Amino acid sequence: MNMSFEPGAPAAEGFIPLCVPHMGGNEWVYIKDCLDTNWVSSVGAYVNRFESMLAGYVGARHAVAVVNGTAALHIALLVCGVQPDDEVIVSTLTFIAPVNAIRYAGAWPVLADAEPAYWQMDVEHVLDFLEKGCQWQAGELRNRASGRRVKAIIPVHILGHPVDMDPLMEAARRYRLAVIEDATESLGALYRDRKVGALGDMACFSFNGNKLITTGGGGMIVTDNQKWAERARYLTTQAKDDPLEFVHGAIGYNYRLTNVLAAMGCAQMENLEDYIQAKRRIAQAYRQAIADVDGLHPMPAADWAFSACWMYTILVDEARYGCGSRDLLCRLEGAGIQTRPLWRPAHMNVMYRDSQTLGGAVSERLHRQSISLPCSVGLTPQEQGRVITALAT
Ligand SMILES: *Cc1c(COP(=O)(O)O)cnc(C)c1O
Repeated sequence: MNMSFEPGAPAAEGFIPLCVPHMGGNEWVYIKDCLDTNWVSSVGAYVNRFESMLAGYVGARHAVAVVNGTAALHIALLVCGVQPDDEVIVSTLTFIAPVNAIRYAGAWPVLADAEPAYWQMDVEHVLDFLEKGCQWQAGELRNRASGRRVKAIIPVHILGHPVDMDPLMEAARRYRLAVIEDATESLGALYRDRKVGALGDMACFSFNGNKLITTGGGGMIVTDNQKWAERARYLTTQAKDDPLEFVHGAIGYNYRLTNVLAAMGCAQMENLEDYIQAKRRIAQAYRQAIADVDGLHPMPAADWAFSACWMYTILVDEARYGCGSRDLLCRLEGAGIQTRPLWRPAHMNVMYRDSQTLGGAVSERLHRQSISLPCSVGLTPQEQGRVITALAT
């Protein structure tokens, strides 16, 4: 079969995916090294190297590599002391994983709406709940409505943009709540010149196929707290107490990342800055192009934020644009352009419709009006031009 093509020939009007991985560096070399040396499983030099690369990049003391971002969140909750029947405050406008992780730990989510300016967790709602909806009792914070102990907060930095962390951290310190950043979508983002992932007590990252960097599937827990890092490593490796004998001190999990995948992660980390620059360039080009299109609104960024621009998302004002976000999605699909709506807010899903929700109307509107556009690191200017033309006509 002849698979060659003429160099310089115009590309066929092919399918443009939403967001696919980019292999531009030493992925093959490092993975081959694992196979050549037979270090393929869940210990090995690349696991250690990937952990220290990520910890160093974020500015955290410790990192523990795990199988995916959801597992990272599950373990982070256990490690910071969340017990069955506790409550954890989490963003409602998020990919569902952090909300599910709260249930894995046997705890219950309290769902906080998004704020309309930057679409992140509405810290005002959270503060209001802590001050008026809870009471301090025998050294613990209790939800007045449910009577349950409130133990932690998971701010989710969605779409590459940080949550307004300073007031949140201040309140968390006051009420002795643990803060676990879900930084899965925002590796490389800055909040007031500080790296996302080093702002709370722990942070979780994901390296699934469409994230800033990918290992196919993978995740990481980072923290400055050595005891918590050790506990996380213990729980993710079946909680084995003896190097030889199979003695276990807790119900552990098989959550460790393999050396092969960590090797890929090291190669991806080497190119992270380039990836973020590509994402930001793509976002900037979209922003300029849709400024002229009536009824399309870009995702805003706060002046205190450096967004990693992970997933470029816009809002469609149906009355002005002439059709709604879902009609636009179908129209673009017909033109071979893949797009996606934002997640249905957690409180609109059947498992969480009875969960306490702080507000909710903003995330419902964002969900209704939103559409994420193709923004792979390897997206060419020609491909982006096709998307922009399709949006404007
Ligand atoms: C991707 C993602 C996760 C989980 O990642 P996996 O690696 O797929 O388990 C968690 N939270 C958010 C907000 C995400 O976008």
